[in-house]
Amino acid sequence: MNITEILTRLGIKETNSGTSTGNNWLETGGKNIVSYSPVNGQAIASVQVADEAAYESVMKKAEEAFVFWRTVPAPKRGEIVRQFGDALRAHKEDLGVLVSYEMGKSLQEGLGEVQEMIDICDFAVGLSRQLYGLTMHSERPNHRMYEQWHPMGIVGIISAFNFPVAVWSWNTALAWVCGNVCVWKPSSKTPLCAVACQHIIAKVLKDNDMPEGISSLLVGNAVGDKINNDKRIPLVSFTGSTRVGRIVSAAVATRFGRSILELGGNNAIIISKDADLEMSIIGAVFGAVGTAGQRCTSTRRLIIHEDIYEEFKNKLVKAYGQLRIGDPLDQHNHVGPLIDTAAVEQYTQAIAKGKKEGAEFVVEGGVLDSEAYTSGCYVKPCIAEVENHYEIVQEETFAPILYLIKYKTLDQAIALQNGVPQGLSSAIMTLNLREAEQFLSVAGSDCGIANVNIGTSGAEIGGAFGGEKETGGGRESGSDAWKAYMRRQTNTINYSNTLPLAQGIQFDL
Ligand code: NAD
Repeated sequence: MNITEILTRLGIKETNSGTSTGNNWLETGGKNIVSYSPVNGQAIASVQVADEAAYESVMKKAEEAFVFWRTVPAPKRGEIVRQFGDALRAHKEDLGVLVSYEMGKSLQEGLGEVQEMIDICDFAVGLSRQLYGLTMHSERPNHRMYEQWHPMGIVGIISAFNFPVAVWSWNTALAWVCGNVCVWKPSSKTPLCAVACQHIIAKVLKDNDMPEGISSLLVGNAVGDKINNDKRIPLVSFTGSTRVGRIVSAAVATRFGRSILELGGNNAIIISKDADLEMSIIGAVFGAVGTAGQRCTSTRRLIIHEDIYEEFKNKLVKAYGQLRIGDPLDQHNHVGPLIDTAAVEQYTQAIAKGKKEGAEFVVEGGVLDSEAYTSGCYVKPCIAEVENHYEIVQEETFAPILYLIKYKTLDQAIALQNGVPQGLSSAIMTLNLREAEQFLSVAGSDCGIANVNIGTSGAEIGGAFGGEKETGGGRESGSDAWKAYMRRQTNTINYSNTLPLAQGIQFDL
């Protein structure tokens, strides 16, 4: 694998503009961000951040593009998204490697992320012919009442580092077929993935003679606040931490904009005494250490029945002993690096805080600092026995720290699972139908995602994705999540020769 050749094929140079309206890449007065690989600490390339003038140029083009794009029939917009999916198929290997190299997740997961992009394109193509509204019966004679869905305008997409390409595509593929144009502010920790994606879509748009501004890119931390407060952006789709989500949500609400919030998780698996323990081990270990614990859906807590607690704990400890930590591009390794040394610091602090609160570590953590781990970003996945109420257990630490909690009854297990501020993903491992149904019932899991005999991590694009409580309540991806990208209009047409008022109100002149 030659990373230089891969970067060239993706259109990435040593220094790149981070401001684009499509094929037009703007030189700005902004500073350069150097993107370092957490895999080996090497500088990959740099990206120039957008300044005030660049932001305004992008917004102007986006406004103009929307006036055109909204009139393109939805199935024709879908055809462009279909071609985008094909372009992603052609670039899957290269983009998958870049995701792995710049973000640090395993190559398999990098390729999987690009596959998710392809899948959402396929979904959106079909959707482009199914943006249905209802027809209602009017209470007045010779009146017809129905609803239709119109695009909203410019959709601002602010994304996190841990899914540096897929989250953008979940939003864009749907937003585009709905008739919106998109402005993307990616994480400054993974700007090259964003530059590569923008090159791919820009070529598709150019091949179809589309104007600039349908897909725009703005790299830079300061861009986030501009998007939050910009009245020209009726919808902001934000993916990131609860801390930042709170700021975004308040700012957008103040100007009566809409937001889709996809925030932090604190996901648990309940391991019943009626679980298939072998399946449960695989689900738990992959959920906890996959992407080095940096998924919003990572498994952070295992709530284990007391009868099998010791047996399951021993199996887990044994499984952790077999984990190989190292270069995520080497498919023999299970665990790659954290995103940067600041994340390593947070991991170390969380372990120290946990110990202070009484956490008993059955697999010790630690930072790996031998020659093989030059970037300083590799850490050991660890396991601690805790109480659910510990402060550290109530928080999301974006690292591979797994907490074990014991339970007696299923009611108690569900209360523990729900007893955190976040509400993204949850699961129960059980072969007992009554337990499974209770977990999924109205008195069961309070999360946006609740699984049976599957871990918490990973989701298919066909379902609506998102969570409750401090996870923000947003939904993206499949099902009817598209409705969040459109405005609903109710239309009543009177084809009689009188003007009857609703509710039988009389108004005689
Ligand atoms: P983060 O909150 O630090 O950053 C997310 C994005 O917000 C980045 O692009 C960042 O530059 C931007 N940002 C920072 N300050 C801003 C501001 N004031 N206004 C607007 N934007 C601002 O998150 P992160 O460290 O990149 O990602 C990890 C977090 O994301 C975790 O909490 C994880 O659970 C969450 N996440 C959630 C989902 C989900 O679907 N629920 C998916 C992926 C990640």
